[in-house]
Amino acid sequence: MSKVLALKYRPSSFEQLIGQESITQTLTQALDKNRLSHAYLFSGLRGSGKTSTARIFAKCLVCDNGPTSEPCEVCENCQAANENRHIDIIEMDAASSRKIDDIRSLIEQTKYKPNSASFKIFIIDEVHMLTKEAFNALLKTLEEPPEYVKFILATTDPMKLPPTILSRTQHFRFKKIPQGSVVKHLSHILNLENIPFEAEALGILTRAGNGSLRDTLTLLDQAIIYSKNYIDAKSVATMLGVLDPEVLDTIFNSILNNEREKIIETIKELENYEGEVVIDELISHLKEKFFAGDPRFSTMLSDRFFKILSESKKLLFINADSGFVLTLLFFKMMEATKIKEIDEMIETLEAKIQTKPQPRKENIVTLTPEPEKRVSQPTTPHPPVTKPAKPAVNTTEVHYKELITKLYDRNYELGECFEKSISFVSYEENILTLMSCASENCKKLLRLSSGIIKHFVKESFTLDTKIAMKACDKTIPEPPQQEENSHEESKNIENPHPADSCIANQTVGNSENAEIDGENILENPFVKRAGELFEPSRIIVKSKI
Ligand SMILES: [Zn+2]
Repeated sequence: MSKVLALKYRPSSFEQLIGQESITQTLTQALDKNRLSHAYLFSGLRGSGKTSTARIFAKCLVCDNGPTSEPCEVCENCQAANENRHIDIIEMDAASSRKIDDIRSLIEQTKYKPNSASFKIFIIDEVHMLTKEAFNALLKTLEEPPEYVKFILATTDPMKLPPTILSRTQHFRFKKIPQGSVVKHLSHILNLENIPFEAEALGILTRAGNGSLRDTLTLLDQAIIYSKNYIDAKSVATMLGVLDPEVLDTIFNSILNNEREKIIETIKELENYEGEVVIDELISHLKEKFFAGDPRFSTMLSDRFFKILSESKKLLFINADSGFVLTLLFFKMMEATKIKEIDEMIETLEAKIQTKPQPRKENIVTLTPEPEKRVSQPTTPHPPVTKPAKPAVNTTEVHYKELITKLYDRNYELGECFEKSISFVSYEENILTLMSCASENCKKLLRLSSGIIKHFVKESFTLDTKIAMKACDKTIPEPPQQEENSHEESKNIENPHPADSCIANQTVGNSENAEIDGENILENPFVKRAGELFEPSRIIVKSKI
């Protein structure tokens, strides 16, 4: 290997440029359509291809076929440009030639026409290094140069340029070359050089090159010599002083498997490395695993790991004990893996909730307080119906029995009337069809209690249950029942509120008592007050009927 890789594989055409597709596309268009500016500014990280692009662009201008995006590569101008000896392509490094005199001499050169080409191109590298006076001297020429003059200014720090320079140039921002593109380029070069390699080793070299192709190629040169013509991850890691990917894998495995002993051993081994390097490598490794879709590194876990790693990096900046920061870091990461357990707990809980039967209507009913005991209730035996508290089977029959119980509880007469006169027909699609064969009295009671009945039906069945009534198909009601009903009829007529059993019974009782003890009515406060007002000589109490 006679020549360093960075020079040997320096791109000589736009196609060979790596990772700056949008810039090469724009420049190609400008050259082919002859829409050229007189001054360009290329800014971006070192090794991102600024100088290479400037040289290719200059060649495109000086070629006998120029301006063209595809220089012939055979003409004298192309060859001279490729060999970096073209008389009309003037390169100046502003880092070393930064004074006003340097710029004055450059301006002087612009006054003479090109020697062999159609253009005279001035490439000023690290232009931000020029002094203020030098900038001022350059300004006028930059604004109105002779038509054959083209300026290409390159800088890693465009923010240091005066706005007057920025406004007079066409600015191209070179981005950091993506790692994937660099790795691809490295493997291409190694294949051409016939040097075997491990893909992982190229990844380590690229990360160390930090987006600069030139730096990465310099590292590759070193790696070829260091690893004796076989580029493997282990030797590259040792050469660069970074962690071997296998060690990183072991660290993450120990963390994920909660192997405390192993972690403590690893920490001892890591004493030879700088804390910051270890953290950076862990971040890169985590990133790789995450993008590779490793199922062990979920989004949540990766996020937590990344936060812990970033926090630890901050601690190192505060001059904390590197070894202790790493120890804490690994134990915190182990704690973070317990998120999984919480996830599993939630899942288990959810599964339990799903398998647990939904609370039934019956159960809800049992929770409601029992209706108050009425006066008439204890004297009359309760019909043998299913108690709501009893664990019920989900059948319509149970619901119907529950309804009857509720009606009995509310008003014994209503319950009795309902049970005897109403028969169940069907319960389909939330419609409870009933058949009524009630006597007139019972009908009246049912009508007055319709609100309560509806309420209990909704409670016993479902909230959207509706009642449909069917006409009676029984012709002759039982005679004794008829008698009983007729007896009740007299009671109900007197009862001003048959719907509310508690009040109704009391009212019935009171009115009966009032009729029996007719004389007591004189003690009634209203009657007394009337007596005082009208001062009657005699008060006669008369029955209403
Ligand atoms: Zn040419």
